[in-house]
Order: sequence, then C-alpha cells, then structure tokens
Amino acid sequence: MVDRLANTEANERRITNVESCFGASGQPLLVPGRVLVGEGVLTKLCRKKPKPRQFFLFNDILVYGNIVINKKKYNKQHIIPLEDIKLQSLDDDGNLKNGWQIISAKKSFAVYAATRTEKAEWMAHINKCIQDLLAKTGKKGTTEHAAVWVPDSEASTCMHCFKSKFTALNRRHHCRKCGGVVCGNCSTKKFLLPAQSSKPLRVCDNCYNVLSSGKTQSDQESKKKTAPTPPRKAEKEGDETSSGEENSDDDEAPSENPASSEYQVPTTPTFYQGNQVPAKGEADSGYAEPNSNKV
Ligand SMILES: [Zn+2]
Ligand SMILES: [Zn+2]
Repeated sequence: MVDRLANTEANERRITNVESCFGASGQPLLVPGRVLVGEGVLTKLCRKKPKPRQFFLFNDILVYGNIVINKKKYNKQHIIPLEDIKLQSLDDDGNLKNGWQIISAKKSFAVYAATRTEKAEWMAHINKCIQDLLAKTGKKGTTEHAAVWVPDSEASTCMHCFKSKFTALNRRHHCRKCGGVVCGNCSTKKFLLPAQSSKPLRVCDNCYNVLSSGKTQSDQESKKKTAPTPPRKAEKEGDETSSGEENSDDDEAPSENPASSEYQVPTTPTFYQGNQVPAKGEADSGYAEPNSNKV
C-alpha cells in the first residue's frame, strides 16, 4: 500500500523538493497523508504541438508543469484531483506513440510516453491511485469531462461549416463542449459549462443547439428561458480577441526557457515503492523497443 510511505521521511523530502522546484509559482503540496507515487517527463499534446511537461503523481492529485531547468525548476503548475480523472488509451498515430488521454472535468488532453512499457507503467500507477482514492473516500469519479481539444494543425478549415479556411485573420476557435476547431461565425454563442468555468464558454453552433435544447437544464429553467446565454458578436469578445483564447491555455506561454530544448527525449519515469500495480506491463516484457535501452 502507498499508505506505508505516507509518514516516511523520504516521502516528505521528495514532496518538499517538488514544492521548491515550483517555488512561488506553485501551491503547497506537503499535506498530511499525501504520498508522491511517481514522477517523470511526458510529452503533452498542446494546442500547437507536443511539448515536454514534468508530471508528478501523488496518491490524491496529478501535478504537472513546464520544465524551466530539468529536475530543478518548474513553473505553470497545474493540479488535477485524481477523483476527477479518467484515462483513455490512444492508438499509435504516426510519430505520436505510446499515448493516452487524461480526461478530467476541467481540462482534458493527450500525453505520450517514450516507450510502450513506460506508458503501461504510468497508466497502471495512475489508475491504481484513482481506484485506491475512490475506495478510501467512498467518492464516485466525476462523470462530466471536458473535451480533448483537437490540435490546430488537424483543422485547416472549420469543422462545423467545412467552408471557412483558417488564416492569420480568420482565427481558429475551440468549442469547449466538443473540443472541435471552428470558425468565429460557427461559434458566436457561449454556454455555461459549470464543470469547466463559472463563466459561459465558447461553444460551436452544434453544441449550442444540443445544450440549449434543454437536455442538460432543468425543465423549469428551460421553459422560462429559451436561450440560457444570448448570442454575442464574435468581434466584441474582448476576452478572446486580444490575448484571449490562445492564452487561456497554459500551453501558449510566449517563450519558454531556451534550455527546454534540451529535453526532447522524455526521461524515464520513477515510481516509488509502495504503489503495487497489477502486472499489466507483462505483455511488454518481451517487447524489444529500439529506444528503451536506457534501463
Ligand atoms: Zn465555420
Ligand atoms: Zn462543439
């Protein structure tokens, strides 16, 4: 059991070290009962392209951040409660191999490990932690999940009207409900998606129609109000026209430390003793992966 590690000095030291790597940009992480289960670099598929991110798996949260200096300094910390997380394995697709989706209520995205074995390890450890946490707290995993955003590069035209071509002026927008890339004309409306934000978020016309048909609203509400949020003109949306949509995601930070270019190959993850996962990776034991000769 991971609990065995909870009060050990080694665990406390590791967590304190993670805290200090994030410095003032991070939240305090050392809380009673928390265990650092594992850590490593994964490639996160961001809006524009895949980027290395440092991940820390605790027994109750998943933390990740940008790498400023490997093993020394991280920033842009994100914390996702494990009870919100669901994993979904991805098939290999061209250069994108050994991946899976991390799906949560607020934010969902794809990550990729260096080898198939590492993928199996990560997924097994994360899933084990989720199971243990839900068993311990008696909570149920959340059923509402944010859509994984379709990367910009996968849509040269609007996925709703199939006509509008994206250019420097005709910008891409992401529907917060389905994750599709759509043009401004096809996403003039917003809808309240409470799991993601307290403010109404941009949705595509398809999703708006489905959402506003009342299926997700209580009957009384939808009878009184046919349109939960009134249509807005795209050009008036100050939150998206200036630094807006592009920067609403962590991934569009203007510049990362040039040193981060050193980390093109994700480093082997470390999992600390205690989190016994079923030997799912066994299928991989005879797997000869050309690049996994590090260990
Ligand atoms: Zn369109
Ligand atoms: Zn949509």
